[in-house]
Amino acid sequence: MADKFDIEQVRKDFPILDQQVNGAPLVYFDNAATTQKPQMVIDALNHYYTRDNANIHRGLHTLAERATTGYELTRKKLKDFLNAESTDQIIFTSGTTAGINLVAQTYGRANFSKGDVILVSNLEHHSNIVPWQMIAEEKGAEVQVIPVDEAGVLDMKAYVELLDSNRVKFVAVNHVSNAIGTINPISYIIEQAHRVGAKVLIDGAQSVAHFEIDVQALDIDFLAFSAHKLFGPTGVGVLYGKRTLLEAMPPYQGGGEMIKEVSFAGTTYNELPYKFEAGTPNIADVYAFGFALDYLKSLPKNAVWEQEKALLDYATEQLMQIDGLRIVGQAPEKIAVVSFVIDGVHPQDIGVLLDKFGVAIRTGHHCAQPLMARYELVGTCRASFAFYNTKSEIDLFVKALKRTITMLS
Ligand SMILES: *Cc1c(COP(=O)(O)O)cnc(C)c1O
Repeated sequence: MADKFDIEQVRKDFPILDQQVNGAPLVYFDNAATTQKPQMVIDALNHYYTRDNANIHRGLHTLAERATTGYELTRKKLKDFLNAESTDQIIFTSGTTAGINLVAQTYGRANFSKGDVILVSNLEHHSNIVPWQMIAEEKGAEVQVIPVDEAGVLDMKAYVELLDSNRVKFVAVNHVSNAIGTINPISYIIEQAHRVGAKVLIDGAQSVAHFEIDVQALDIDFLAFSAHKLFGPTGVGVLYGKRTLLEAMPPYQGGGEMIKEVSFAGTTYNELPYKFEAGTPNIADVYAFGFALDYLKSLPKNAVWEQEKALLDYATEQLMQIDGLRIVGQAPEKIAVVSFVIDGVHPQDIGVLLDKFGVAIRTGHHCAQPLMARYELVGTCRASFAFYNTKSEIDLFVKALKRTITMLS
């Protein structure tokens, strides 16, 4: 492990960053949508398809064995990454969305009934709202909402009241808001839910890239996240669950891999985690994802968080000096995401013009329309940073933003 965080070296590890876009150096500030991949991950994908490609688990030949070992090695790395009790509680999915739908369609279908309440927060991504609405409708259950205040902080007093005045069966909240960056107090949220016997799913899509999560210390029932927001490939997600819960849950999809024995008289299901991994999985990308975890581990401890914190403070300070600019979401606990609006200018126009200066940010509702509605906005501009970003990139961004505003007003 390196003992010093060398930003020049780190940037070299991400080859995509070194390019010109529309005649200007690329400034990639859309990390909350997806992160870039280190060379190690790109090389792993290349290696897998060049040397090891085969289907996993059933093959007896050497390539099948290599492919299986590589795939299962990532599961082992994830067990360590999350401090899970065992590898069979790590289920590979295609992403956060797939993991949440799996829990809603299995745990939810088996456990929710008429009059039950599922709590989500006003800060959620659509993928942590819609699956709950779908199963609630089917089961006659009801989705209720933990309110958020003007600054973007969840109202914990209202949360406890909701827990105490309803038959709450399930709480589904994100650890970190993708739209405005708020870090939610999940330890407290979980403790309070457990007090009334409710189970909790944490949407960790935005948090795993920024700080360590210990699923045992936090007593998390379910955790879902995506590899592509954690410097790994697209098309891979992770669902962690407590063993007793996963064991009691019926399978989600039927097919190969998830069975023990199939006959027309009836079928028995495979054990965890394979019960939930029907069909040929995304072997190459799971394998390569393991290298993203290795890469993160190779960075000096706390360096990622410190670098991002410095970027957040600097960007906030620079942006606040712009006339007519308002930052949406000013929670005291935030990751390096700055969402903002500018008087009289449509966010989309800003996004389009910034691209002409090589700057990539996200504009729109960020898959969080109920949150935009809460603030009576159609959308925001969102700059989201990763540890490979720099203050000089923020300078380029702020300069481009000022020119953009002049052009638009
Ligand atoms: C990105 C994101 C999701 C959805 O992740 P997918 O990779 O699109 O499945 C869910 N929740 C949050 C908070 C996110 O940021």
